[in-house]
Amino acid sequence: MTATIEPVDSTTQSHLRDGAQYKNDLRDSRSVWVADHKVADVTQEPTLGPGIDLMGTMFDDQFNPEYRDVLTLTDPETGERYSRSWQIPRTLAELQDRRQLIEYTSFKTAGTFGRPPDLSPLIALGMYSRSPLFKRSPAAFSKNNHDFAENIAKYMKHGRDTNIIAAEVLADPQNDRSGPSGGTAGLLRIVGQTDDGIVVSGAKSVGSIAAQADEILFTNLLRPDLPPEACVWAATRVDNPGVKLICREAVSSPGADPFDHPLGYKGEEADQFIVFDNAFIPNERVFNVGDTELLKLYGPCSQWGHWHVLTRMWVKAEIFVGVAQLITEFLGTTKIPQVRNMVTEVIAYAQTLKAFVLTAENQGYLTEGGVFGADINFLTAGRLHSIDHYPRIIHILQELCGQGLVMRFPRAAFDSDEVGEYLEQLLPGHGVTARDKNRLMNFVWDLTASSLAGRTAVFENVNSTPAPFIRERLYREFDRDRMVGMARDLAGLPYE
Ligand SMILES: Cc1cc2nc3c(=O)[nH]c(=O)nc-3n(C[C@H](O)[C@H](O)[C@H](O)COP(=O)(O)OP(=O)(O)OC[C@H]3O[C@@H](n4cnc5c(N)ncnc54)[C@H](O)[C@@H]3O)c2cc1C
Repeated sequence: MTATIEPVDSTTQSHLRDGAQYKNDLRDSRSVWVADHKVADVTQEPTLGPGIDLMGTMFDDQFNPEYRDVLTLTDPETGERYSRSWQIPRTLAELQDRRQLIEYTSFKTAGTFGRPPDLSPLIALGMYSRSPLFKRSPAAFSKNNHDFAENIAKYMKHGRDTNIIAAEVLADPQNDRSGPSGGTAGLLRIVGQTDDGIVVSGAKSVGSIAAQADEILFTNLLRPDLPPEACVWAATRVDNPGVKLICREAVSSPGADPFDHPLGYKGEEADQFIVFDNAFIPNERVFNVGDTELLKLYGPCSQWGHWHVLTRMWVKAEIFVGVAQLITEFLGTTKIPQVRNMVTEVIAYAQTLKAFVLTAENQGYLTEGGVFGADINFLTAGRLHSIDHYPRIIHILQELCGQGLVMRFPRAAFDSDEVGEYLEQLLPGHGVTARDKNRLMNFVWDLTASSLAGRTAVFENVNSTPAPFIRERLYREFDRDRMVGMARDLAGLPYE
C-alpha cells in the first residue's frame, strides 16, 4: 500500500479527487458539533480527522498505478477516468469488477467503516436502476413538475463527475416508539415549497460518516402513520445552512501509537445525529415528494447497498480467518484439536459468506433501468447469516487469545529500562518475539473488544436493519411455490 502516487495523464483525471482535494472540500461552512463546540475544520478535529485521513488515502490510491483499475475506470466515449464508486454495472462481469472496489475499501478499514466512500453511490445506483418507476407523475406535495427519474440520472452524473462521498440516512430519531409505527416526533417533513425547491425540517439518525462526507442522501421509510408532507427522498450538501450535525462520542484511539492500537489509531467512521432546520433542497436534488408508492422502492433500491454490506462482511471474515490462524501460530496451539475446530468455524463463516456473495451475483438480473444486480434473496439470507453468526466468531477470536487479549502492554512498557526486559524475556510466543505477539494481541483487541469493536458489532447487527426485520423480509420476498409443490407431490396432497 506504499507505492508512490504517479499522476495519470492529465487529460484523463479531471473527475478524480486526490486526498488533499477531498480534505480541502470538507473545509466549508458545515455546522458540525462535537460535545459543546462547533468544529472549525473537520479535518483537524481529533475524533474526525484520522478517519478522514484514512479515506484520503483511498482518494490518493485512485492515482496509484497499483490500484487505479480497481478504483477507477475509463469512460469509453470520452476517454475520461472516473471513480468506480459511480460505475453503472450493466453485466455480471461489470458487477464483479465493481465488487473489487468494495473489497478494497473493506480491507483498508478492516471492515470497520460500514459507509466507506463507495457505499452511498450504490443507493443512488439503486434509484437509477428503477428509474422508469420514478417517472411516475408527481403527486400531492409536488408543487413543481419534478422529473424524479431525470433528477436521479443527474445525481449519478454529479457524483461521477465530482467524485463525492455521501452519507445515506433512513433511520429516524429514537424517541417514544409506542405510536402505531414507532411515533412521528422529529420526523423529517416538508415545511415549505418555492418554485426552486422544498424546505424540510426534522431530524435523521444515525448518519454514519456525514461529518466526513460531502453530501447526505436522505429519505423516510413508508409507514402506516406517515403524514403526506413527510413523504420525501432527496440529497443535500453537508454545508447546507439549514443542516446541523451532532457527533456521538468517539470510539477509536486517535493519536495513539500504532503499536498500542494498530487499528484504533487509524480513526473511525463517525456517526451523526442530523438536524434539518428549514433546510432548502433545490428541485434537482429531490427524488420524490408526495408519492408513497415510490417510498416502497427503498427496499429494491437498497439492494446494491446490501450487496456492499455482505461483501464487506465476507472480506472481514477472511481477515478474521487470518487473525485466528496467526493467534494460534503465535501461541503454539495449532495442534490442539479443539483449537483447530474453532479456527475451522471461522473458515466456514468466511466461506459461507463468500458463497452467498458469488451466488447472489451469479443469480443476478437486469433491472427495468438496465442495471445488473445480485439476487436479493441470496443477499438477504447471506446478511442474516452474517449477523446471526458474528457474535460467535468474535467470541472465538477472543477465546483463541486466552489471557493475551488482556495482558497486553504499551510500547512504552517494552521500551522501559526497568521492566521492558522482563516482558521481552518472559512473553515470547512460538517462534515470535514478545513484542510481535503483543502487537497482534493489540490488533485483536481493537478488532474484537475495544470501544471501536463494540460500535462495529452494534453496527453490524442493526445498520442494515436488525435481524428480525431481515427475517421478515426474507419470508415476504422468497418465492416458496416450487418447494410447496415438491412437498405436495411427495405427500400426495391435491393442488387447490
Ligand atoms: C453504529 C450505527 C450506525 C448506523 N448508521 C446508519 C446510517 O448510516 N444510516 C441509516 O439510515 N441508519 C443507520 N443506523 C441506524 C439503523 O438503521 C437503525 O438502528 C435500525 O434500522 C433500527 O432502528 P432503530 O435503531 O431506530 O430501532 P428502534 O426502532 O428504536 O427499535 C429498537 C429495537 O427494537 C426492536 N424492534 C423495533 N421495532 C421492531 C419491529 N417492528 N419488529 C421487530 N423488532 C423491532 C429491534 O430489535 C430494534 O433494534 C445505524 C445504527 C448504528 C447503531
